[in-house]
Amino acid sequence: MNVWIAKITLLVGIVAMIAIRAPHGRKCGKIKVVASKRGRLETVLLTLAWFGTVVLPVLWIATPLVSFADYRLHPAPFCLGIVLYALGLWLFYRSLADLSTNWSVSLDIRENHTLITSGVYRRIRHPMYAAIFLMAAGQALFVPNWIAGPLYLCAFVLLFALRVGPEERMMLERFGSGYESYMQTSKRLIPGVW
Ligand code: SAH
Repeated sequence: MNVWIAKITLLVGIVAMIAIRAPHGRKCGKIKVVASKRGRLETVLLTLAWFGTVVLPVLWIATPLVSFADYRLHPAPFCLGIVLYALGLWLFYRSLADLSTNWSVSLDIRENHTLITSGVYRRIRHPMYAAIFLMAAGQALFVPNWIAGPLYLCAFVLLFALRVGPEERMMLERFGSGYESYMQTSKRLIPGVW
């Protein structure tokens, strides 16, 4: 398969992801952060994840900088990757819609923060992270480059491992028994499993 099919697909995916995210970023940016658990390591990993999501893919699409790591594009991983990426985009869109003004890029509590336990938050506590895993795994499969393909997934595995515990502790501190009972009726990432 022609590598440009993967390049154009990735470009469409990145534009869609930014278009889904941008209005929420503007809306939430106007609401004051009243408590934050953002650490320095998290800022580093967020930057790495952003590099793997946008910067490196754009360099791969538009320049020959990382083309030494290209390999042949095969239809099966390409199709599976696109399905995962599309599912991820949908779940990303739904998570942002359900979180509404409670969303932030980092570990923040905003003014009048409310606990969301419905919609895609009903069965799992981290649908947005599940969405990012789907998109990142999709990218690793359909981008035939050993660097631009898996970097997003590697960065996000680290970010997730570092963040999920402190995020749940922050939510417990803020919402107490409300979050405790939510933990009893939901899983972290995979409905009914974990
Ligand atoms: N971990 C969630 C949210 C990611 S956005 C997910 O994967 O879907 C990160 C911010 O969302 C955190 O700063 C936290 O303040 C907020 N948050 C996480 N879970 C929430 C919930 N159930 N209700 C309201 N806000 C939540």
